[in-house]
Amino acid sequence: PVRVRFPPSPTGDPHVGMVRSALFNYAFARHYGGTFVFRIEDTDTARNTEESYSALLSTMRWMGFEWDEGPEVGGAYGPYRQSERMDIYADIAKKLLDGGYAYRCYCTQEELDAANAKAKAEKRAPGYAGTCRNLTPEQIAAHEAAGRTSVLRFRMPEGTLTWDDLVRGEISFDTSNVPDYVLVRADGSPLYTLVNPVDDALMRITHVLRGEDLLSSTPRQLPLHSALIALGLSETVPVFGHLPYVMGEGNKKLSKRDPEASFSFYVKEGYLPEGLLNYLALLGWSPGGDKEFFSPEEMYAAFDGTHINSNAARFDLKKCQAINGDHVRALAPDDLARRIVPFLAEQGLVADPPLPEQAATLAAAVPLIQERMVVLRESVDMIGFLFVPEHAFAVDPADGAKALGEDAKPVLEAAAKALEALPDWTTAAIDATLRETLIEGLGLKPKNAFTPVRVAVTGRRVSPPLFESIELLGRERTLRRLAAALG
Ligand code: GLU
Repeated sequence: PVRVRFPPSPTGDPHVGMVRSALFNYAFARHYGGTFVFRIEDTDTARNTEESYSALLSTMRWMGFEWDEGPEVGGAYGPYRQSERMDIYADIAKKLLDGGYAYRCYCTQEELDAANAKAKAEKRAPGYAGTCRNLTPEQIAAHEAAGRTSVLRFRMPEGTLTWDDLVRGEISFDTSNVPDYVLVRADGSPLYTLVNPVDDALMRITHVLRGEDLLSSTPRQLPLHSALIALGLSETVPVFGHLPYVMGEGNKKLSKRDPEASFSFYVKEGYLPEGLLNYLALLGWSPGGDKEFFSPEEMYAAFDGTHINSNAARFDLKKCQAINGDHVRALAPDDLARRIVPFLAEQGLVADPPLPEQAATLAAAVPLIQERMVVLRESVDMIGFLFVPEHAFAVDPADGAKALGEDAKPVLEAAAKALEALPDWTTAAIDATLRETLIEGLGLKPKNAFTPVRVAVTGRRVSPPLFESIELLGRERTLRRLAAALG
C-alpha cells in the first residue's frame, strides 16, 4: 500500500512551493488509495513557531488535504510532531552507533575549520575528512578523558549510489563526494539528517515526493535507510521523486520575498481552493493533452506519479488568475454567493451568515458578476454598493468623482425624474426609460448618458450591468444617491 508524507518545518509563512509538494503527495495517495501522512519537522527549536504550526494546519485544511495520519488526527505511527519523538531518535542513534553504522567524532570546530582551510589551499574539496572514523578504543578513551564532546556521524559507505528517481530517472552519486555527516549534535539534539529518514522508515513511507532542493540529501539518506533495514527497524527504502524548482520573476527561484510565493496571499485575495490547486498542479505536471482545467477529483484520478516534468516550472500569476476565474465561473451561483460572504462580512457589508434580505440581494447580484470575477475579493468592489448603508455610501474619489461635474447635472436630474415616475421597477423598464430620457430625450451618447448615473448610484465607473444594478438597489436608494450626487 502507498504511504506518502508531507513533512514541513513550522518556520515562517507557508509558501506555495510547499503547498505544491503537499498536493503532489496528497494526489498520489488519493490516486492509489494510499495513506497521506502529515508530519511536523519541528526539531529546530530556535526557528519553530506555534503560529507557523497552526498556519500549516489551516493551510492543509483550506486546500482540502485531509491527512490520514498526523497532528490532531493521530495514527499508528505517531506521534507526528518530531519534538515529541526525541526518545525514539535517541534510541535509534544508539542502535546506529552500536551497530557500527555511526561513530563518535571528537573534532572541535577549530580543527574542522583548519582542515577545511587546508583543503581549500590545496584545492581539494572541503568537507569532513573522516578523522574520527576509525578511532581505537584508546584514542576514544583519551578524547573522553580530555573532556572533549562528540557529535554522532554517519559512516558513509564507499562506492556509487544509484536510485531510480520517479521524476528524473536513474541518478548516480559517487559517495566519495559525500562526507560522513552529523546525525546528532554534541548536546544530544538530533538533526534533520537523522530524523527525516528515520521517520520515513518508521512511518513505513513508500514514496518520497519532494522538491529538487533536497536532491542532494538523497544520497546521504539512502545508506541510512539501508542501515535501518539491516538493524531490523525498517522494511524497504522508499522510492524518491524530486519535483522541479518553481521559478519566479527573472528566472530566479520563487523566493520568500515574492508576495505571490506566500500562501496567505491567495487566501486574502480570495482564490478558490480548487483554483489554486489546479494551478499548482500544473507546476511540473499535466494530465496530458492540452487539458489545463480540472477539478481536484479529476487531478487525483489522473495523478499516478508519471508525467511529472523534470524541467523547472515557471510561476505565472496571470495564468493562476485565469484558471481561478475559470473555476469561479464553474461554480453554482449559490455556492459562489456562499463563498463571497466572508469577504463582504469582513468589510462590514453583510452579516455572516447574511440577514435574509442581504442573502436575497446577494443571490440576485452574483449572476451579474460571476462572469467577470477572477478572485472573490473583487466582489467587494463590484457589489459592495448594494450593501453599504446610505450614510456610508460615497463615490470613489479616485475612480468616479470626475464623472460628476457640472455636465453631469442635467443628466442626473433627468434620470432621477424618469426613475421616480417609473411605474414598475424592473430591469427592462429602467433600461427603457433611461434610454428614452437620456439618449433620445437629451441626445446623449450612451457613454455620456450612463457614466454619471453609474457613478452616482454605484460609486464607480466600472460596475455590474447598470440597469440590473439599479433594480437591485431599489428605487428609494437609487433616488437618494442621485440626489446626493446633485449636491
Ligand atoms: N522538513 C523538510 C523541509 O521542509 C522536509 C524535507 C523532505 O521532504 O524530506 O524541507
